[in-house]
Amino acid sequence: MSRRPLVAGNWKMNMLKENGTALAAAIAEKYSAVKNPACDVLVCPPALIVSAVADKVANKIAVGTQDAHALKSGAHTGDISVEMIKDVGATYAIVGHSERRTDHFEKDADVKAKAQAIIDNGLTAVICIGETEAQRDAGKTIEVCRTQIQGSVPENATAENVVIAYEPVWAIGTGRTPTADDVEQVHAAIRAEIANKLGQKVADGMRLLYGGSVKPSNAVELMGLPDVDGALVGGASLKADDFWAIISACL
Ligand code: PEP
Repeated sequence: MSRRPLVAGNWKMNMLKENGTALAAAIAEKYSAVKNPACDVLVCPPALIVSAVADKVANKIAVGTQDAHALKSGAHTGDISVEMIKDVGATYAIVGHSERRTDHFEKDADVKAKAQAIIDNGLTAVICIGETEAQRDAGKTIEVCRTQIQGSVPENATAENVVIAYEPVWAIGTGRTPTADDVEQVHAAIRAEIANKLGQKVADGMRLLYGGSVKPSNAVELMGLPDVDGALVGGASLKADDFWAIISACL
């Protein structure tokens, strides 16, 4: 089963309108110049500039948000609905990032409800999972990932409307990564758990991204693993040259 890789940039709480649109435009321009690119590219800016970035790169690369509310509208100060995300031209939303799980106390059930809203509105959810360092040290990496898959992924998820990002919490922003063997072992276990939940066909087609200190120097090795279908990139997605080098590992 061939899966088209996705390289996604999570800008977190970085970039203003001017430098954010310039960064996205630089990536979109390079990507547009590639004949038959073998991967998709997504950027997820802070919510306030998603509209400006989407206008700038329309029909070249995809744009998404870093969160989405589960409900359609109402008294939820500071939140954004999937309808609003769609309205400004974004087609993806990241949910369940470990920083949201930690800073905003989001649980698997919250992540699942958000992913469900994204699916219901015809967008694609990038659902993040991954173990903490303590869980890893306790030998619980695969168990944690299985539980998060069962709890965070809606029952009607398909290879088209959901992407899973495996992000070991201890690897995010630290410069540390698991070994390639470890990444492949965890991705294979995640795919098996998706097959348990959603069937082998969905599991075979679903894209599993690796995230956590992906950089130009490790991208070729990590992106070459059989069960790795692209990357979710934080820090290195803020520099056009670095992000482009990671994209190039999948082109
Ligand atoms: C992330 O925040 O999703 C991430 C993977 O960050 P970094 O690449 O900086 O580790």
